[in-house]
Amino acid sequence: MPRAEVGTTKHLANKMKAKGLQRLRWYCQVCERQMRDENGFKCHTSSESHIRQMLLVGEDPKKFIEQYSAQFKRDFLTLLRTSHGEKKIDANRFYQEYIANKEHVHMNSTKWVTLSEFTKHLGREGICRVEEGEKGGLMIQWIDNSPDALKRQEFLKKKERMERGDEIRERRAIEEMVERAEAQRKLQEDDRPKELVREEGEKVVLEFGKKREASPKAEAEKSDEAKAGEEEKDAAPASVPAPAKVAMKMEVKPKKNVFASMGKKDKEKDKEKKPELKRPMSEAERIMKEEMERNKLKNRQRVA
Ligand SMILES: [Zn+2]
Repeated sequence: MPRAEVGTTKHLANKMKAKGLQRLRWYCQVCERQMRDENGFKCHTSSESHIRQMLLVGEDPKKFIEQYSAQFKRDFLTLLRTSHGEKKIDANRFYQEYIANKEHVHMNSTKWVTLSEFTKHLGREGICRVEEGEKGGLMIQWIDNSPDALKRQEFLKKKERMERGDEIRERRAIEEMVERAEAQRKLQEDDRPKELVREEGEKVVLEFGKKREASPKAEAEKSDEAKAGEEEKDAAPASVPAPAKVAMKMEVKPKKNVFASMGKKDKEKDKEKKPELKRPMSEAERIMKEEMERNKLKNRQRVA
């Protein structure tokens, strides 16, 4: 029975009759014809056109199987890409969508015996991402390998990396801030005990002890250093912290008196020393003046 030409009323009528899914075993892949029943299929297989086709296939069945396989794969993937993009879908459910097109290449004419075998093949080839679904079936996901998609993926990866970099930098900055705050807090804690020590008066006592050692030296040495000692003595009461105990203030006062008396002694010594120091200076000056006057006289004599 010759096949109705595309566009003829017979072709359209056949199409209308062939609604819904039909029995796979009544489909002739070689002639790409679906027969509606056993009888129809029998008639078809005994037809001249079918026998001619089958003879061709018989010459090189491998070639035909490869052709059907390639076509099946191409159609399957085209539909997967166009209808689901890169979304994950149950392989079995998608196969129902694929075979809904009556002109599809039937899987029994390909080299793949089962859908799961074909799905695994797609996974191995890296064409699709294949994994076990929660309900046990295989999940299939098309991988976009087009140059545009790869570029987009690269861009997204870069963006993600940059964002992660920003995140890390931000986290580091926050950590540094926390560390600084911690250090500040520790410093303040370190300061507190110092204040307490001062209140006890221990440190103040030690400081004055040092100055006491220094003052006798100053007495023995030149008046200049003694003056420096005086300055220290003057500065010492100022350095004592204001919020100090009354007892400590009592401690300070007698020491102050001692220094004051020592200072007076130094001043008395200065009065004695200063004229002594000035005498040789004035003598030298006198000698120089005499010499200068002599020179002046000589000059005047020359001029005269
Ligand atoms: Zn046929």
